[in-house]
Amino acid sequence: MSRQIIYLDNNATTQLDPAVVEEMLPFLTELYGNPSSGYQFAAQVRKAIELARERTAKLLECEPEEIVFTSCGTESNNAVINSALQFEPRGKHVVTSAVEHSAMLRPCQELEKRGCKVTFLGVDRNGDVDLAEVEKAIRPDTALVSVMWANNETGVLFPVEKIEKICREKRVLFHTDAVQVAGKIPIRLRDSAINFLSLSAHKFHGPKGVGVLYVNKRSRFRSSIIGGSHENGRRAGTENVASIVGLGKAAERAIAYLGEEVTRVHAMRDRFEKGILETVTGASINGADADRLPNTSNVFFEGIESQAALMLLDRHQICCSAGSACRTGAADGSHVLRAMKLPEERQKGSLRFSFGRFNSEADVDRAIDTIPQVITKLRRLSAVTSVSAIRPAVVG
Ligand code: PLP
Repeated sequence: MSRQIIYLDNNATTQLDPAVVEEMLPFLTELYGNPSSGYQFAAQVRKAIELARERTAKLLECEPEEIVFTSCGTESNNAVINSALQFEPRGKHVVTSAVEHSAMLRPCQELEKRGCKVTFLGVDRNGDVDLAEVEKAIRPDTALVSVMWANNETGVLFPVEKIEKICREKRVLFHTDAVQVAGKIPIRLRDSAINFLSLSAHKFHGPKGVGVLYVNKRSRFRSSIIGGSHENGRRAGTENVASIVGLGKAAERAIAYLGEEVTRVHAMRDRFEKGILETVTGASINGADADRLPNTSNVFFEGIESQAALMLLDRHQICCSAGSACRTGAADGSHVLRAMKLPEERQKGSLRFSFGRFNSEADVDRAIDTIPQVITKLRRLSAVTSVSAIRPAVVG
């Protein structure tokens, strides 16, 4: 791959940490035993999985037996929904939000087709949920409340600690999709009322195709993948050993980097925003007034179409996205910005830049240099003449 790529799409996926690759390699070569086999050769593999479980539990500040390895964040989300609906005999209702990733929205839309009721909580212009709305949405037949911790498009953080308290009081199961949170802000599950939480390794410098489902030890859970007794009966199927080992190493690295990395990445993101807002008229940050992840910047550029901007930026080898990577090419704009009731122009003219551990200050310099040129060119091409001259406030 070219060295010149400026990768500002770390919410889509992240570069594998070389230390993770190194730890995985023996399990892709000589240590190929099936972890369920009885001989010594397999015991080493089993041990490696248990080490990964301990490391993951440390990242989440929970018990190792509360960790279930899955194939991805999407599987973790689906598993929780299916389990909650099986277990709650009264459960015919799920509460989620309108700004979830498709890994939660789509399964919920399927539930509706099967006769289940789903409440999709709205958000305000900053992307925040109203806690009173959460409380009001919970009904006697609610089987599950599931809201994401951090939004993948805007980085806006939901008040998960407050929502979990509401669910505890109402005795309703609570799940949070924390796929965008791991490695970016601390997660402390000990003594929390979160019943289930989803993670995905490739969002924190681990491999793709491996995820985590945290199942609180006091919470009932039934697997939807039935077969052998792997993962303590909570997820059948021979373990994806190398990837699980990689996930564990990525979790260990994430803990080590949490303080320092978050500060550095945060500073880079803020410098980027400042640079863009100072040089591009008619640019502003979506979700600017909300609590946000330290790495994410969702920028509206007046007078452009995000799809055209992506193509031009790609020519400059700048990788970013218009909303979720899973929806690349979708012409109908961002469902997240739509739910925030932002004007259509904003829904279709915003770009997401997401920073990570392997970005450098030189990446920020090049982005700040190139993006204004690209926006000017696009505006010229679409002959937009009335771009606002207002310079919005810099976001801290
Ligand atoms: N949830 C959120 C918030 C995400 O951002 C993503 C991926 O972009 C997923 C779930 C899906 O994770 P995976 O790619 O591991 O299925």
